[in-house]
Amino acid sequence: MKIIMLGAPGAGKGTQAKQIADKYSIPHISTGDIFRANLKAGTDLGRKAKEYMDQGLLVPDELTCDLVMDRISQDDCKNGFVLDGFPRTIPQAEALDAALSKIGQKMDYAIDVDVPDENIINRMSGRRACLNCGATYHIVSIPTKVEGVCDRCGSPVVLRDDDQPETVKKRLEVYHAQTQPLIDYYKEQDILKSVDGTQPMENVFHAIVEILGA
Ligand code: ADP
Ligand code: ADP
Ligand code: ZN
Repeated sequence: MKIIMLGAPGAGKGTQAKQIADKYSIPHISTGDIFRANLKAGTDLGRKAKEYMDQGLLVPDELTCDLVMDRISQDDCKNGFVLDGFPRTIPQAEALDAALSKIGQKMDYAIDVDVPDENIINRMSGRRACLNCGATYHIVSIPTKVEGVCDRCGSPVVLRDDDQPETVKKRLEVYHAQTQPLIDYYKEQDILKSVDGTQPMENVFHAIVEILGA
């Protein structure tokens, strides 16, 4: 099963993608996580990506596409994968389709987690991320068991640099201009499914499982 998670920054793509990956035993591929891991490891890619991320802008397609194509060609992706945060532009979507069609494959589902802009600022200002293991929490709706400490690995959880309200506003603009057109792109391919992302996390997941099948 090959799945794309669509939605505004903070809509809950990552939260849902992790659960989908667990339930269907497929890898969770988050381009944001890959860039942050590169930054932590001090690579060139990480440094370049951060310049864009901190401004709320997209990392250029030429730095993004090849790395995803490499990742999905690895062995563990043979039975499918869930893409979280990719594609984010029409050229990225076209590159993905082209790479898959070369090997006679196509994406199965694009799931749009729909959350209005009004809810996003609250979601993002309350988001706390573990930069060690990638786990994500929310100070109100999905808190850590011990304040400030990741349940999974015990590292501190932090407000990401790009989750400051000013940067979030920019990211929302970029989302509407560059990423939202993908909704029509996948509608035309007849693989778009929408879920109401304002529901509690468990209900959103339930709606997704209804779509994908148990
Ligand atoms: P969120 O979880 O809020 O949607 P991500 O962790 O997916 O954010 O992405 C963080 C940042 O990384 C984005 O704002 C952007 O700068 C960069 N990024 C992630 N994925 C892509 C992509 N597919 N194309 C370009 N930039 C990306
Ligand atoms: P995205 O990957 O789309 O940027 P996240 O999965 O990181 O979004 O979620 C953004 C924030 O909202 C996080 O703090 C997360 O814990 C919280 N969150 C995710 N899903 C829900 C939900 N259904 N209801 C309330 N808060 C949620
Ligand atoms: Zn952790």
